[in-house]
Parts: sequence; structure tokens; C-alpha cells
Amino acid sequence: MQAWGEPSYRVLQIWQGLYQQYWSSPDDFSNLPKTLREKVMDHFSFSHLTIVREVCSNDGFTVKTLFDINTSSGIEAVLMHYPQTSDKKSERNTLCISTQVGCAMGCVFCATGQMGFQQNLTSGEIVEQVLFYARQLGARSKRVSNVVVMGMGEPFHNYEQTLGAIERLNHSQGFNLGARRFTISTVGLVPFIKRFSNERLQANLAISLHAADNDLRSSMLPINNKYPLEQLIPACHDYVDKTHRRITFEWALIKDVNDSIEDARKLRGLLNGLLCHVNIIPLNPTNGYTGAPTSNARALAFQSTLQRYNIPCTIRTRRGIEIQAGCGQLATEGI
Ligand code: SAH
Ligand code: SF4
Repeated sequence: MQAWGEPSYRVLQIWQGLYQQYWSSPDDFSNLPKTLREKVMDHFSFSHLTIVREVCSNDGFTVKTLFDINTSSGIEAVLMHYPQTSDKKSERNTLCISTQVGCAMGCVFCATGQMGFQQNLTSGEIVEQVLFYARQLGARSKRVSNVVVMGMGEPFHNYEQTLGAIERLNHSQGFNLGARRFTISTVGLVPFIKRFSNERLQANLAISLHAADNDLRSSMLPINNKYPLEQLIPACHDYVDKTHRRITFEWALIKDVNDSIEDARKLRGLLNGLLCHVNIIPLNPTNGYTGAPTSNARALAFQSTLQRYNIPCTIRTRRGIEIQAGCGQLATEGI
């Protein structure tokens, strides 16, 4: 705006139009003179995502959207609606967003990993997923309440663009979603966990653990060969020491692979003295993996073993499995 000789308040007008009104085209900016609107139109592209398909779960609470971003595959994002609970916990609209088309990390049970890596998303494309749903929810006087960076891709493999997107959505004069309402999940890229520990941003960190010994973890998550547990766990301690924030460890429970009481004991040994929480995810089916989810009874036994050791542990509710919107089920092939 300065280079164009415009007054500085134009910046705020545009910023607020984008992030508070969710305007998606320069035409919407009724607060700007027409000549400026036209200039903006000539110089900037406002929309990279085109919606291709939207599917809704049977209960109506989960919506998965496929967006075209001019690649052969596109990306998916998921909106999860949690109604107000009987104990008056307010309703939540949690968004699960993607940071890459595909993923290079090759975790064996994950549909995104099974499709391989195609490309990184830009901050703009990450932000747009949120604005798309904000617009949709806004039309019903609702708001995005939480954002989990747990869709397609490994966020720390696209660190700058991911953090850039969160910073933008966190901006107090724009979208203004509190940093604590974001959770970034990583497969365990140690150098970036260290970098994240030094950020001033107070977003939550989740780590996909899934195994408490190197042999088992490497067999499911190849990145463990590069960053084994003896590097990962100290990086987690360092994060907690620096930020005083609790880490969430994700554990996809797989029948007869990592669901025994012995596995829970090993996990307790690994997490000893660490401010953390364990989130159990019953394995979701994907085409490229034959492992089966653990039974409910075994999942409860695993949970109660950890709780007996004073490790807080919850079982994540399965959402949108029938529309392939569950954890690790996002994959796109040709649109
Ligand atoms: N790349 C990041 C975030 C995306 S995956 C990461 O790996 O952490 C989000 C979560 O879903 C991760 O904890 C991942 O391990 C888990 N996940 C992947 N495939 C799954 C499956 N088939 N069933 C259950 N959880 C799965
Ligand atoms: Fe990538 Fe996460 Fe899937 Fe692993 S689990 S392949 S890191 S998206």
C-alpha cells in the first residue's frame, strides 16, 4: 500500500476484510475505492483452493472437503462439530487441516504416507482451508474454535509455511484465534521440535509415538531410523523445560502389535518424568496396511494401565470413519 502511495489504514482495511469478514474477492471490499479494488485484483490472487467435493458423515457432525490446488491430487480438510455437552462444556468446531499434498514420511499405516510426497502447501493455502470453513460456519453464526494440524502431510517438513499460517491466523487484528487453540502434530522431526521449543508461539505440540522401542517404531515409522527415541525423548524434555507446556503423545492402537499391557509398561518407562498426556487412537483402516484395530476391551485395559501409573490418557473418539475422514485416512488420487 505504501509503494502504491495509499494511506496506511488501507492495510488494516484489507487485513480485516480478509480475516474478519472472510471476503474472498477484491469485489467484496466495499470499504476500498473502486480504482484500488481493481489494482488489487490485477496484482493479487485471492483464492487458490477450489472446492471439488464435500462429504458429510452419517451423524452430520463431520464434514470432509476435497480442494483442488492445481495439482493432480488436491488436498483434504475435515471439520468436526462437537455439540455442547450435558455438563455445559461449550460447543466446538475443530478443523483438521493439511500442510502438504501427500507425505514423505512413509508411515506404514497412514493413507497419506502411502501416497508419497507431492508438494508443500504455501501459508496461503494452509490459511485458506481455515477461512473456507470460517466462512461456512459464519453463515450459521458459528466460529472455528480449534485447529489441529493433523491432516495430510508432516507439518515440520514444511515448517516455515506452517508456522507462517498459524501466526497469521493468530494475529490479533485479523482472525485472532488464540495460539493455544492450535495443535501441531509431528512424526518426530527432532531438529524442528528443538526449533519449535524456542518459538514464542504458544501452540500445542503433539508427537506421533506409537511404539516405545526403536525396533517396533522403526518398523512402522521409518523416520525413527533417522531420529530414534534416544534423540526424540530428550528433545521432548527440552520442549517441556523451555515452554512448561504439556506434550500430547499419539498412540494408534494396533491389535497384537503395540496394545499389550507390556507395551503400556514400556511406554510408562519412556515417558517417566515428562509432562505429558497420551492420546490413544484406535487404528483406522487404510488400503495399504493389513493391521487391525485393537478391541475396545484391550484399549480400555491399555488406558487404565497408563492411568494407574499416573499418566493421563484418553481414547480419541473415532470420527467420520465411513467417509475416510479419520486420522491417517486422508488421501487423494486424481480429481
Ligand atoms: N504428520 C503428522 C500429522 C498428521 S497424521 C503426524 O504424523 O503426526 C495425524 C495422526 O494420525 C498421527 O498421530 C498419525 O500417526 C495418526 N495416524 C496415521 N495413520 C493412522 C491410522 N491409520 N489410524 C489411526 N491413526 C493414524
Ligand atoms: Fe506423514 Fe503423519 Fe502420515 Fe506419517 S502419519 S505418513 S508423518 S501424515
